[in-house]
Amino acid sequence: MSTIVVVGAGVSGLTCALQLANQGGNIITVVAKHMPGDYDAEYTSPFAGANVLPMALEYNRWEGETWPVLKALAEAVPEAGIHFQKSVLYRRAKDEAAAFAGPLSDGLFVRNPWFKDLMPDYVDLPASELPEGMSSASSFTSVCINTAIYLPWLVGQCRARGVVFKRAVLKHISDAEKLSHTGRKPDIIINATGLLSCRLGGVMDKKVIPARGQVVVVRNEAAGNMVCTSGTDDGNDDELCYIMQRAAGGGTILGGTYMKGNWDGVPDPNIANRIMKRAVEACPALTGGKGIEALDVIRHAVGLRPYREGGVRIEKEKIDGTWVVHNYGHGGWGYQGSWGCAFRVQELVDEIKSELKVGSKL
Ligand code: FAD
Repeated sequence: MSTIVVVGAGVSGLTCALQLANQGGNIITVVAKHMPGDYDAEYTSPFAGANVLPMALEYNRWEGETWPVLKALAEAVPEAGIHFQKSVLYRRAKDEAAAFAGPLSDGLFVRNPWFKDLMPDYVDLPASELPEGMSSASSFTSVCINTAIYLPWLVGQCRARGVVFKRAVLKHISDAEKLSHTGRKPDIIINATGLLSCRLGGVMDKKVIPARGQVVVVRNEAAGNMVCTSGTDDGNDDELCYIMQRAAGGGTILGGTYMKGNWDGVPDPNIANRIMKRAVEACPALTGGKGIEALDVIRHAVGLRPYREGGVRIEKEKIDGTWVVHNYGHGGWGYQGSWGCAFRVQELVDEIKSELKVGSKL
């Protein structure tokens, strides 16, 4: 048996812990400053929509290998809090002309994307169905995850497989050496500390910065459609318009922003007004045509996405004599890439285990 300490109880840490527990042969402790149930802007996972809108420019295994798992959960595991939603992406003429230089300047809005073969029912909408200002649109079947159900579900699945959860605030990643519930020094530490990996001793990754996401959560429902547009006209360049309805009474998320380098965890009322106005314009069915006043607000919120210059970091590194597998820096795609990343973490854990076994025989 290998002793493993996972640092972090966001979607990345929990998915890794569950994957490693499913694999067997591991004694796992999850330690974290924040746990599901907590709300703090620097603990990103509870604030996500969360849906699957692939963002990579070309196929990558993170998103490609996660979709089948989330789809299977939506089909067969209602207690995970995931349901299918039709997703419509609208591309504005000006964004297409500028080759999508906006905040989500990635693969989401390109025409004929690689994920048209991944996501069910992918079609381009006819010109007759385009709202004013939009030059093209595509729709496909996706999912929306109620994070308030899914994160505790992941915890429950881990606990059912013997994973032990502990609160701890680490100053240095090597502090995890003393935190296995077995009392033994772990063979492997998984670093899934998200945004705070920029401040964690032994990691201090300066490529990691927040991408501030402000949202409004409302009781209104969006008639079964998720909507996302490639840009907005009435705010700053780092503002977005998206709508998604969470499963199982989780309300509808209206977004949003993608403000790189901004640590402000307090919702800005002016941005909130613009988010609500755009959402009602993009989807009048939200309020039955009665306008913004008919939105029934549950809360305004801000989460800080763990953006990393150059992309996610998933690799192994020996720190103070112990193997650490890093899995952080997922920006705005932590859920939709969670299983693909956890599969890679497991491969790295397996590599380390066989190395440790060889070493112990010498
Ligand atoms: P986190 O959830 O931040 O978890 C980090 C964990 O590490 C926490 O438990 C924390 O307490 C712990 N930790 C950190 N430092 C320490 C320390 N020193 N000691 C102990 N513990 C520590 N993604 C999607 O896939 N689809 C979406 O639709 C989507 N929408 C989003 C909308 C918004 C508004 C936001 C803000 C994000 C969205 N995301 C979405 C992105 C997604 O939420 C993140 O990529 C993901 O949650 C990152 O998860 P994580 O586990 O890496 O980090």
